[in-house]
Amino acid sequence: MKEIAIISGKGGTGKTSITAALAGLEKKCSMVDCDVDGANLSLIAKHEVLEEEDFVQGDNFSIDEELCSACGKCRSLCRFNAISKDFIINPIFCEGCGVCAFFCPTQAISHEEKVSGKIFSSHTERGPFFHARLGIGEGNTGKLVSQLRKKNSIELRKNEEILVTYLDGPPGTGCPLIATITGVHAALIVTEPSVSAIHDLVRLEELCRKFKIKMFLCINRADINEALSQDIELFSRDRGITFTERINYDPLFLKAQKEGMNIMDFTENETAVAIRNIHSRLSDFIKGKDHESPEVPSIHEGSSGEKSICKFVEKPEYVGVL
Ligand code: SF4
Ligand code: SF4
Repeated sequence: MKEIAIISGKGGTGKTSITAALAGLEKKCSMVDCDVDGANLSLIAKHEVLEEEDFVQGDNFSIDEELCSACGKCRSLCRFNAISKDFIINPIFCEGCGVCAFFCPTQAISHEEKVSGKIFSSHTERGPFFHARLGIGEGNTGKLVSQLRKKNSIELRKNEEILVTYLDGPPGTGCPLIATITGVHAALIVTEPSVSAIHDLVRLEELCRKFKIKMFLCINRADINEALSQDIELFSRDRGITFTERINYDPLFLKAQKEGMNIMDFTENETAVAIRNIHSRLSDFIKGKDHESPEVPSIHEGSSGEKSICKFVEKPEYVGVL
């Protein structure tokens, strides 16, 4: 079984539509919507909710001054400098790691649990689907992503027919993304030919490389800037990323979304052909037949083994002057 994360670095590149489309081409697969801050895979993946449960977090740490002996151990152990000289925990800096409470010799530190959202276990025609709804203003979504992935793993142990899980990743390179890509077998990066998307692509590529994750790449709306699309292709080849396909701007993506449908159930046009090509490339990887794709090269080397000549990497300001 392989886990493939569909990620983009930036929101609005069409990642969720492509995730639903790829899953729609499988006979059996599971899906996890890891974009818990802006979860919308459930809007286009037809599903039936089988179970829902509360997402509970316990990161409201506080110190009981009557029990505190002012030994200072918590302050010295807190890596986030969240505890003041008067032994008051600043909730803005506190990351909820619990180290202070664990080591406090007088058990003066406690925390309250609260419901921060809902976790849904659903069923689709193709297999299980895990998604969530985070409460308004709630954070710490990396933990929620990990819980969704754990539920998926438990389910897959009972279902040997499923060979792939598609994870719809969150934008950015923060905690939710790290929780999404940790331990996955590959990432499909969905980008577009725009200055901000390229900027985020470069950061995402560095992150995936650090995690030694095999990368595939596709360009959505490739025809809106032909020159930048060509540069992105060069970048991917130079950095040892497997380039899969270009998808041209297609208003049917939006139309399908509005109808609550997967684009593959909506059209057989050139977009559908491009997505089938991406799927075929990923299928080879899932089945262990992907002999063309290079291994992830080290951070300073391109696929040729020579120092990178990519202008995005050599001249980061390049993207700022286009
Ligand atoms: S470790 Fe416990 S007893 Fe020591 S200063 Fe912190 S809260 Fe007080
Ligand atoms: S829970 Fe962690 S981050 Fe928060 S105050 Fe304690 S040690 Fe610091």
